[in-house]
Amino acid sequence: MEKLQNFVNGEYCTPSTGEYIDNFEPATGKVYSLIPNSGEADVQNAVDAAEKAFPIWSEMSSVERSKILIKLSKGIEDRMDEFVQAESRDNGKPLSLAAHVDIPRAVSNFHFFATAIVHYASESHQMEGLGVNYTLRKPIGIVGCISPWNLPLYLFSWKIAPALAAGNCVIAKPSEVTPYTAYLLGKVAQEAGMPPGVLNILHGEGGAVGDAIVKHAKIKAISFTGGTNTGKYIAQTAAPMFKKLSLELGGKNPNIIFADCDFDEMLSTTLRSSFANQGQICLCGSRIFVERPIYERFKEAFVSRVSTTVVAPPNDPKAKLGAVVSKPHMEKVLSYVELAKEEGGTVLTGGERVQMDAPYNEGYYLRPTVIEGLAYDCRTNQEEIFGPVVTITPFDTEEEVLMMANSTQYGLSATLWTSNLKRAHNMANELHAGIVWVNSWLVRDLRTPFGGVKASGVGREGGWEALRFFTEAKNVFIKY
Ligand code: NDP
Repeated sequence: MEKLQNFVNGEYCTPSTGEYIDNFEPATGKVYSLIPNSGEADVQNAVDAAEKAFPIWSEMSSVERSKILIKLSKGIEDRMDEFVQAESRDNGKPLSLAAHVDIPRAVSNFHFFATAIVHYASESHQMEGLGVNYTLRKPIGIVGCISPWNLPLYLFSWKIAPALAAGNCVIAKPSEVTPYTAYLLGKVAQEAGMPPGVLNILHGEGGAVGDAIVKHAKIKAISFTGGTNTGKYIAQTAAPMFKKLSLELGGKNPNIIFADCDFDEMLSTTLRSSFANQGQICLCGSRIFVERPIYERFKEAFVSRVSTTVVAPPNDPKAKLGAVVSKPHMEKVLSYVELAKEEGGTVLTGGERVQMDAPYNEGYYLRPTVIEGLAYDCRTNQEEIFGPVVTITPFDTEEEVLMMANSTQYGLSATLWTSNLKRAHNMANELHAGIVWVNSWLVRDLRTPFGGVKASGVGREGGWEALRFFTEAKNVFIKY
């Protein structure tokens, strides 16, 4: 059985604990590799390496750092097929999704921040007759990057790329559920000429190695993407140590459909925004609100399309949905379907596991599920399910749908379908969300601020926001 390794000080190494955790293949439900179960000593080794590397990396010109990061981006692109296969196998997502979304986006993340850093200028504020202020933006030092399993390399690189571009050394931990592409990244970093100790990748359990990263006194900032409860725990731990914190957390996003929308475009995009990546994207619109005059038309067309959506092993070219990420996650999603029934909901399609033929008969396949008849404030409509399950609810007025859309503790993203421009502006302004898409979904410009409000997080990633997070501002005043 293949044993994955940590990547510390520019080299692959075994965990100090000598222990390993099983890595399951969601498509088959079988263990296919072993992951280091790293501990505090591994974090200490990585911090020691990063401390030595920091003067080299932070004092290198941004143009030199940029060149290395561009090589890293190119290195992933050159191994596209290997990364695509690995991501799909580790996560259960269709190969086509890994090939068109996950890995190309990881390539873009490194390329984007490699080029952004050479355009990054700091501010200057002149005081007439008195003098001038200028702001230095210095790298923080050693930073921790912790990412989830749903878009493994995509989200891992979204943090690491700006952290490195800004001149920091990184201790990064991918999810123990999907470690493989982060494991492959070490080799690419070596080939790109990244100095040893600049990028360190540790594998293992969140509560062990993740916690040790958050608690280490020399790690000055934590960039975390994951669940709201984990984010709360990390904030409680890191805040008294005055660490910089960026928290990208859960969501329960509304998809609001007005009768005046372009119906066909809305329908095909709503299929994607509901079920892409088996509904395991923090931006998926899991609460669909439909204006009453088109509610029945939408319901019929949507349920018909959903019920014929192909769920298949990830390597099947016909697969629109692959396997969900793990057995416990599959069980959690199914428990929400049962809860929805208890809360008075009607399952219009789906709601069950899909049984595949061998060798996929123990894989974690779920039928895409549509539920109606639930109150907007029941648990099914308030708690994050993070799987292929959506609810549909009719509405009559803008005020009513705004109230329902804004009723959860979350505020990550919202989608709006209407041809009324005035309404689009008003609604976008009133929605509690960090990101609003009008007549589209998941269109991403890497320069824009990315993040949520309320329990969906603190801080913003993307563009200058990320480079500001990964630097400390120092103002210098010089008297004329
Ligand atoms: P988790 O919060 O369980 O885990 C996220 C990461 O944190 C994993 O690497 C995990 O390790 C680690 N971790 C767990 N406990 C600790 C701890 N005590 N200290 C430090 N690290 C820890 O989230 P999931 O992996 O289950 O991801 C799904 C969640 O992520 C959903 O809620 C989703 O909405 C959210 N998400 C948010 C996004 C956003 O941009 N706002 C984007 C994508 C997902 P391990 O895997 O070993 O447990």
